Amino acid sequence: MSRFIHAYKSANSRLSKKEYPEIRCKLWKEAFWSQSFCLITAGGALIEGTKPYIESQGDPMNKALKFRIYPTDEQANLIHKTFGCCRFLYNQMLADKNRAYEETQKMLKVTPAPYKKKYPWLKEVDSLALSNTQLHLEAAYRKFFREPKIGFPKFKAKHTARKSYTTNVVNGNIRLEEGRLRLPKVGKVKIRVHRTVPDGWKLKSVTISEEPTGKFYASLLFAYEACENQTDHVQNEKVLGIDYAMNGMAVFSTGEKCANPGYYRKAQQRLAREQMRLSHCKKGGRNYQKQKRKVARRHEKIRNQRRDYLHKLSHSIAESYDAVAVEDLDMKAMSRCLNFGKSVMDNGYGMFLEMLSYKLEERGKRLVKVDRFYPSSKKCSQCGEVKKELALSERTYHCSCGNHMDRDVNAAINIREEGKRILCA
Ligand SMILES: [Zn+2]
Repeated sequence: MSRFIHAYKSANSRLSKKEYPEIRCKLWKEAFWSQSFCLITAGGALIEGTKPYIESQGDPMNKALKFRIYPTDEQANLIHKTFGCCRFLYNQMLADKNRAYEETQKMLKVTPAPYKKKYPWLKEVDSLALSNTQLHLEAAYRKFFREPKIGFPKFKAKHTARKSYTTNVVNGNIRLEEGRLRLPKVGKVKIRVHRTVPDGWKLKSVTISEEPTGKFYASLLFAYEACENQTDHVQNEKVLGIDYAMNGMAVFSTGEKCANPGYYRKAQQRLAREQMRLSHCKKGGRNYQKQKRKVARRHEKIRNQRRDYLHKLSHSIAESYDAVAVEDLDMKAMSRCLNFGKSVMDNGYGMFLEMLSYKLEERGKRLVKVDRFYPSSKKCSQCGEVKKELALSERTYHCSCGNHMDRDVNAAINIREEGKRILCA
């Protein structure tokens, strides 16, 4: 009997390790290791039982901070060269993988090493950047196999591919020093650290990129320990419901609406003007290049304005509410089938949700997604009656119970209530 129990326990333990291979690496978090070990061996609990426990332990969280860097001309040249080498290697590997797949129907495993032998100039750039290129390619393949509709990995073209490379921290080779970022091969690059990095954050990797405007950035990825989970006390939570409206950006259950800020329109007009000027330039000429950069600068400006606005908005929401309920919209499908195209994608609702999601998580709070088929607009938020028909043109919700309310506010309240229900379930 005891032998049977023992076998049963170790089988469960093996299963957990198989399902969570990272458990082995987690020895540093001793408390967790001993607890889960006890749980598995002493209790002989089924993996189903230990699963929620393991998952609630939480990984160290990752967060990237992006800083502007100012490389010298020499450094900029080397960075450009690294972009080029990574792109070259990516394309070579992709071509070889494709060829091998056509011939053998099997996936070819590739590493940068043989390419470095064949093209010795690849050795002149950061070797970890090249290794990451391999990882990026593998990730692209995995994504393709998981979701074939997104398409086969594509070759990177010189003028359209995003200019970036990623390098990892190995034995402290990358360091953030006083006003300088030390990078492999490139050396010390001037950096503007516009916000302080909290104590205890560990630098993991750096992605160097260049915008079409010619500005360089370094995105530093840090690992840190997540704060305590506070999701247990749902009862006294302050919950906010957000409904997504077509015209503006979002409507809150408090009745507030937030539309696109006005400067955004102005910036759009300026962009249109510069784009018009570009279309009049002779393609390839000096003025064309100059104008192209101007257009890129306008684009960057708009992007930054929007991001800044969304960061501030999501920050203030995450600070003042304990949980936020939103509709789980499929943004891509929506803009495709409703032909709202630009307006949906443009006001960055998806970006907003992403920011809100991690900002809430950082504070141990929650973002609840309400099923997209939940009748949030058709339901009366006062009496709960659900209308059969509701035209998109009806901007005010009228109910037989006497409730007259803005259509979107009504929906936002419904989303909040549904969110509360999910939280308490
Ligand atoms: Zn009603």
